[in-house]
Amino acid sequence: MTKAAQAPATYQLMKTRLQEQLPNGDTRCNLCLWRCNLRHGQRGFCQAHVNRNGTLYNLSYGILSAIDIGAIEDKPVKHFQPGTRVMSVGSYGCSFRCQGCHNLEISWGVSSLDELARGESTAAYVTPLELIEAAKRHAVDGIAFTYSEPAVWLEYVLDVSELAHEHGLYTVYVSNSFVSDEALELMAPHVDVLCSDIKSLRDDFYYNICKKAKVSEVLASIHKAHELGIHVETRTNIIPGKNDSLEELRGIAQWIKQHLGVDSPWHITRFFPAYQLNHLPATPSEIMWAAHDAAREAGLNHVYVYDDKGCDCAQENLPLETYLSTDPVSLNSVKKCAASCCGDEGVLIKKYEKRLQE
Ligand code: SF4
Ligand code: SF4
Repeated sequence: MTKAAQAPATYQLMKTRLQEQLPNGDTRCNLCLWRCNLRHGQRGFCQAHVNRNGTLYNLSYGILSAIDIGAIEDKPVKHFQPGTRVMSVGSYGCSFRCQGCHNLEISWGVSSLDELARGESTAAYVTPLELIEAAKRHAVDGIAFTYSEPAVWLEYVLDVSELAHEHGLYTVYVSNSFVSDEALELMAPHVDVLCSDIKSLRDDFYYNICKKAKVSEVLASIHKAHELGIHVETRTNIIPGKNDSLEELRGIAQWIKQHLGVDSPWHITRFFPAYQLNHLPATPSEIMWAAHDAAREAGLNHVYVYDDKGCDCAQENLPLETYLSTDPVSLNSVKKCAASCCGDEGVLIKKYEKRLQE
């Protein structure tokens, strides 16, 4: 029986797939390159993984923040099964804190994860099989994990992907590529397409959105995915005054050519003002097309400019129940962990937090 088929029918915390006991008693999460070292009661940077008595658990397994259906080209992915439709899903938490993020409530959705931790959440829990059934009902061709970094709920991503392949659906992973090699190795047999951001070639740009991230690590992660045989397409969202020097953009194109090949697609998207970068203008078309021309001169064969498209946003989506057959009352019932290891209350992290304060 596949892991997906064994997924619990009701919400519960699931063991983090990549965890490691350290000599000092901490447990390390190796899903993303934060590689958080956590003690009992602590949660990782993404807030979606918690240490309980030395074992890490994912709080957000099966918890959906958004669903949408659209063309695969909108991810953006242009060189894998063009003309097909994909069901996009996301959950809460992210490994980055981009100042211009359009998916704030999801990606920085720590209050939703706090509610899950306290056993007070009414977020939707959808088993892998229920999600695949919804995808089949809506006659889509694939499933995309997007809206925030999927590594922070990789347990679910892997189970859904495995089941998706069994049902003839392809899988797409939209990433910031701050992902560990071990996670990429786990996903390689089950993920068909990685749509990966190259946000900048400057460490100081990454430092502002993730203090631990280095350009070299992000690029190495993208290259590793390519080496593992995943179909990789890259994207750069050009932000005025932040990553819009032509020299830097040409450098991104040269890196793609050298490491992913002349035929690897590069998608150039437009920045639209949001959150902490609300004071900046939208990206002028001129710089997007100048980047396009520089990339073509550098030898890249497939460069796409999106005047009308920024990040893969979840803001305009229909309510989840539009896509699911579950009735809204049970979909929005209070989620408490169904596992018995913490007693009748289920898993209430608050209980551990209180105990730590005593
Ligand atoms: S997924 Fe990343 S940010 Fe979240 S706990 Fe694991 S290593 Fe930390
Ligand atoms: S833009 Fe993407 S990577 Fe950055 S915080 Fe938002 S969801 Fe996370």
